[in-house]
Order: sequence, then structure tokens, then C-alpha cells
Amino acid sequence: MTDYANKKVVVVGAGRSGLGLARFFQSRGAQVILSDQRRASELTGLGPLAESGVVLDLGGHDAQLFASADLLALSPGVPLEITAIRDALAKGVPVAGEVEIAWRELHAPLIGITGTNGKSTVTSLIGAMLSRWGKRTFVGGNLGTPLVEAIDQEWEWLVVELSSFQLEAITSLRPRYGLLLNITSDHLDRYPDMASYRAAKLRIFENMGSGETAVLNADDPQVAEVANTIGACIVWFSTSRVPQQGIGLDGGALVWRWQGQEARFPVDQLQLTGRHNLENVMAALVPLLLEGCPSEIAWSAARDFRGLPHRMELVGERNGVRWYDDSKGTNVGSVAKSLAGLEAPVTLIAGGRDKQGELSPLAEQVAGKVKQLILIGEAAERMAAAFADMTQIHRAPSMEEAVNLAERLTPPGGVVLLSPGCSSFDMFRNYQERGRAFVEAFQRLPAVTAGGDER
Ligand code: ADP
Repeated sequence: MTDYANKKVVVVGAGRSGLGLARFFQSRGAQVILSDQRRASELTGLGPLAESGVVLDLGGHDAQLFASADLLALSPGVPLEITAIRDALAKGVPVAGEVEIAWRELHAPLIGITGTNGKSTVTSLIGAMLSRWGKRTFVGGNLGTPLVEAIDQEWEWLVVELSSFQLEAITSLRPRYGLLLNITSDHLDRYPDMASYRAAKLRIFENMGSGETAVLNADDPQVAEVANTIGACIVWFSTSRVPQQGIGLDGGALVWRWQGQEARFPVDQLQLTGRHNLENVMAALVPLLLEGCPSEIAWSAARDFRGLPHRMELVGERNGVRWYDDSKGTNVGSVAKSLAGLEAPVTLIAGGRDKQGELSPLAEQVAGKVKQLILIGEAAERMAAAFADMTQIHRAPSMEEAVNLAERLTPPGGVVLLSPGCSSFDMFRNYQERGRAFVEAFQRLPAVTAGGDER
């Protein structure tokens, strides 16, 4: 617990986490300034804070305020490169991220989940398993409720999704379990190269020692390559073999081996589909099984888990075509996994704000399965150039038109998949809004007539 009484704290970013931070510091008697690049008209929820004495610094950042602070408290996603932050850092002002600040106030063991893809799924799965085991569990972080909102409550476990941005602003965070699911190309608009993106992810392990456990993906070369730099005990998961100690896929079962014991979990009982979800389930089981949760309890929660919205969600079927919303497929790696799980010919709707991800890992799937590629948003040009010889390429100026086009182009037996491989911010507020636009446009398609041809 840190003493913030009378300290001058600048909270950077006035989204949900920033508001939570401002309230927290105020409850500890600090002098709080809330700063955001956005103007008041673009923000919500500031009224009560301003009334209770929080000073607002909006429409930019006041460099002098920053430089004279006792602490800069960063919302997740605020880059350390902002000039006012860089200057304050150079003057020796301490900087900490929301997760780090919350961690200093919390006492329960923490399970941290990071990786390029699968974080939210695994975080939710572990939360479901711990709850079924009867544990008072906080589930949040980068997903849903910010960790700062867990402060001042009693928890038995904290299950926290951690983005690479959040991990850049930790100093003492020390998970009991750190899960690194995979590392593929993402956010290269923000990191100079893959090595620095990977280094940010690896920070989850930096304070962990032999008393803590790293849960790692044995099939991911980027992860396996750095295992020897990790001080924590390592437990592997793999879909290609069953490790001596750890969990792996053996035919139709997940097999857990630990200290001479073995447990088997039949995968056909799961509602989640796709090989990547087997990885997610395996990674989620490890902390539970090591903590002594009866395997039937952990497995029953995995069996009942139906996945999260906008992740390969079946929207509907019409004229023999299945439509999937994978709006959360915001990078190349996740699009590749989603395509890998489909057998039928695919009409893929992709594009959005370009994160400059390497597109070549998608080439094989696109050439083999994608019969029609409908491109939207800012990345359309670059994607069109990359896939020009592999598939039929179309452009659509809006989601509505992309959906109408997909309807016309996809023959019975096919699949329409929205899996953009990009973020959504050029056209939508977030991936949820993009997914909803897709679903609503699907629902507006003309009713199918008895003859099956509505056009
Ligand atoms: P995150 O929180 O890391 O963004 P999600 O659980 O929300 O991950 O899943 C996002 C997308 O990533 C899913 O739609 C799916 O296509 C893909 N995905 C999920 N799990 C994995 C995994 N283990 N490996 C690769 N891709 C995955």
C-alpha cells in the first residue's frame, strides 16, 4: 500500500481506467489532475469528478503540470512517447501504469494473461473455472473492468488480461501465474519491430522467480526461443505433443501430466471450436490444476464455455451460406487461425486501420480458401496489393455494401467471414461496433423466399 496523501498525481487518459484511477487517488487524499488529449465534449463521466475537486487538463497535456507532479499515472494504451510524459520522465518524475498502481494495493494472487491472441478468451475461461470452484475472483484488466476497480474489495484470485502496452508501465507486478499464449505480428504501427513487441510481452515475467509459474506455448517459435530468459518455473502446453510435465493434445483428448499423475479431457465435449481454442483451454487449465482444483470442476467450466462475442460467432445461415462475425480478429495471426478452422470456401471481409502487420503469413490460407476478398477501410490498398494474384478482390465503401456484396458473391455451401486483420478506428468506435454493423447489415438482407432465391 502506498501513501498518496497530499501527493500531486496526474492521471493521463480519461477513459474508464483513468476515471477509476482519479477516484482511487482522491479517496487516498491526493491532489488529482486528470489529463486527456481529447476535449471535454468528447469525454463522458467527468462531471462528478470535477465537482469533487479533481482538476481537469483537457484538449492536450500541460507539460509544466506533468513535470511538477509527484506521480504520472497512465491509463492503459497511453504511449510513453507522448512529449509531456517523456519530458517528465527525463526530469525524474515517477511514472506507473494503472495495473501497476492497482497491484500495489491488492493482496490476492494474480494470474496474468498475455499474448497476441486469445487473451480475453483465456481470461474469461480461467475466471469461469475459479468461480465454479467457489473462489471469489476478480476478472478484468485489458478486458472489461480495469484492475483499479478491484481495489478495496476482498478477492481470493485476480485474473487479469495484460496487453503489451500495460506491461510497459509495470515495475513491481508479480503474477503467481504468467501465461504467454503466442507472439505473432501485431501493433507494428506502435513498436519499431517484432523484437521490441516481444520484449514488452516478456515483461510479464520480469519479477517472477522460482515460486511462480510461467505457462508457455511450446508450439510457438517466438515463445520457445525466449524461455531460457524466464526465471519462473515453466509449464508447457502444446497441440503437437504431450509434454513430460504439462498439457498437450493426444488424438481426441487433452492430456495433463504432472508428477506422475495423468488426467485426460475429451475435446469433443467442448463447445469452443478450432485448434487455437484447444490452446486456450489448455493454458487456462494449468493454473487451476496446479492449485489443486478438482479436474472435473475445471473441465466442467471449460465444457460449458461458449466463447465471447465477435470471436468466430455464428451470426446466421441463409441460402446455405454460414455467416461468422470475427470482428475481434484485429491482426493477421488471428485471421489465419480463424480461416484455418473453416473447411468451406470463404468470402472474407477484411481491412480497417492498418497496423502494418506482415501479411505474408495469411497468403497460404487466402490462396487456398478465400474465393472472394472484400476490402474495407484504410488498409484496403495494401491488402489488395498483397493478395492480388491469389483471389478475387473487391472494394466496399461501407460495411453495409460489403455485406450486400458478400451475399451476392457467395454460393451455397460457402462461408462469409468478417475477420478484418486490422483495428476498426478508421470507420468505427471499436471492434464491437464494427461487429454489430456487420450483424445488422446481415439482418437487413432481404428475406429469403421459399424458392431460396430472394433476388
Ligand atoms: P485477445 O484478447 O488477445 O485479442 P481474444 O480471445 O479476444 O484475444 O480472441 C481474438 C481473436 O483471436 C479471435 O477471434 C480468434 O480469431 C483469435 N484467437 C483466439 N485465440 C487464439 C489463439 N490461442 N491463437 C491464435 N489466435 C487466437
